[in-house]
Amino acid sequence: MEKSLFWADQLADKIIERSKREKRKPNIKCQQTPSGGKHIGNLNDVVRAYFPYKSLMERGTKAEFVHMTDDRDPLKAVPKRLADLDGNWHESSKLKDMSKYLGVPLCRIPDPFGCCKSWSEHFTKVWMEGVRSLGMNPTLYSVDDLYRKGKFEPFIRMVFRRKDRVGEIVSKYQKTKSKDYIPFDAICPRCGRLANVSSFDLKKKRVGFMCGGKAIKDRRSEGCGFVGEVPWSEGKLQWRFEWPALWAMFHTTFEPFGKDHAAGSWISGQEIARNIFDIEPPIPYVYEFFLVNGEKMSASVGNVFIVQDMLKIMEPEAFLYYYTKKPGKQRDLDLENIILLINDFEHAERVYFGKDKESNENERKNLTRQYFMSVKDVPKGMPMRLSYQFASMISQAVSGKDYVEQAVRILQSTGHLKENPTKKEIEAVRGRIDLAGNWIRTYAADEYRIKLVERPERKILASLSNDQKKALRDLQALLSTKELTEDKLYESLWVIAKKNNLTAPEFFRGAYQVLLNRESGPRLAQFIIAVGQERVAKVLSSV
Ligand SMILES: [Zn+2]
Ligand SMILES: [Zn+2]
Repeated sequence: MEKSLFWADQLADKIIERSKREKRKPNIKCQQTPSGGKHIGNLNDVVRAYFPYKSLMERGTKAEFVHMTDDRDPLKAVPKRLADLDGNWHESSKLKDMSKYLGVPLCRIPDPFGCCKSWSEHFTKVWMEGVRSLGMNPTLYSVDDLYRKGKFEPFIRMVFRRKDRVGEIVSKYQKTKSKDYIPFDAICPRCGRLANVSSFDLKKKRVGFMCGGKAIKDRRSEGCGFVGEVPWSEGKLQWRFEWPALWAMFHTTFEPFGKDHAAGSWISGQEIARNIFDIEPPIPYVYEFFLVNGEKMSASVGNVFIVQDMLKIMEPEAFLYYYTKKPGKQRDLDLENIILLINDFEHAERVYFGKDKESNENERKNLTRQYFMSVKDVPKGMPMRLSYQFASMISQAVSGKDYVEQAVRILQSTGHLKENPTKKEIEAVRGRIDLAGNWIRTYAADEYRIKLVERPERKILASLSNDQKKALRDLQALLSTKELTEDKLYESLWVIAKKNNLTAPEFFRGAYQVLLNRESGPRLAQFIIAVGQERVAKVLSSV
């Protein structure tokens, strides 16, 4: 097979090479803490694992794709907004007060919505619902479950046995910690919070501790002062050790992680993997987080989005396409102009099916790979896909219960749909119009919101030049005489402008002013077709 230049294929090459050398089935791992504040930026962790995995599957290389839920992590902060199981947001201040659980493992905290067994079960469900609705299906592992089943035991033992080396590593990477520090916390049986241990027993498999509180982010969780022992299964390796222990447990071949880990726990993790757990760390892949509408998402600010939010305005494949772009630099997901992303996706789809030409061969191959990665099951032929941009206009031109029928009539008049469309085609139209309509109502920039005026303003009519008026009358005449396709109309607009000695911008500006009462607007031909030639002609008749 020819070497692919697509980033995920190149990672898959490396994964295959390593797994052959190690004579093991590749293990591709990702993970997430069900903190309640995880968003589409954190989704990178899953997606950057999924694409190389999909590349392996395509080549017939069997691999494991696993997803940890870090449900034994403590609650570090209560996010400003929390999502229910349907993906709808609620202000956390209006739910039960959860701040008393700071420092308690997420799997031991009640569900703030009361519908699941625990905080972690609830937010793992919300998260995995998003992951699976994009067509990704990793095997889910609960870290709490792995502790309860004793799967961490051999690794906890190694950490305790190699206490001296562990102490050296800890004090090297965490300046505040001494060489006697034991990177293991116990869950206090009295208050439920995590507390650092001071002793261990290799035979009885127990740890001793005093519940003295722990630093959490920039504050401390309070301890209750309890002094006693618990079994190892009622404790937790600290993250810097837990992460490499999971690599060892799963024989992880490849794992993506965010920039935040790259400079911290990944550096110490490699040393811990080699010197404490006697394994080679996985092939790493560092991804950038991204901005949404130019801002960093933050659970404490509350400006986070989850997959469920995105699927209200676009199809899973269009959203997943965003992540196929080369992830080296920080990107901005511009929800106001989401049309631009979806245009890109539609182009990739047409290139894939040979409907759009792409003269640069590397770019053509890249788009083909991006499309393949985004779509769960690539259809045999080009699917019916009404352009999102057009759909967004039609969604504003139709209304009432029979909006789908109205849309179908518009699309028949423009030649987008045949006389007797199939059920599937009608459903495709409905799907796109609903999504684009939701986008218009929620995130769209003003320029995409269109409303044809009833009659043009006097002031505007007075401001038009004679040439502009003549051109608009020509347009009125054209629209009233025959039904046009979008392409035909587009051509005619240029002819009309030229005939009346106008530059295209002069003509278009006049049209926007008269029809929309503003200086600029959407693609004129598309707009006229979407709202209907007759209605536009009627407004133009006052020129
Ligand atoms: Zn729940
Ligand atoms: Zn306690």
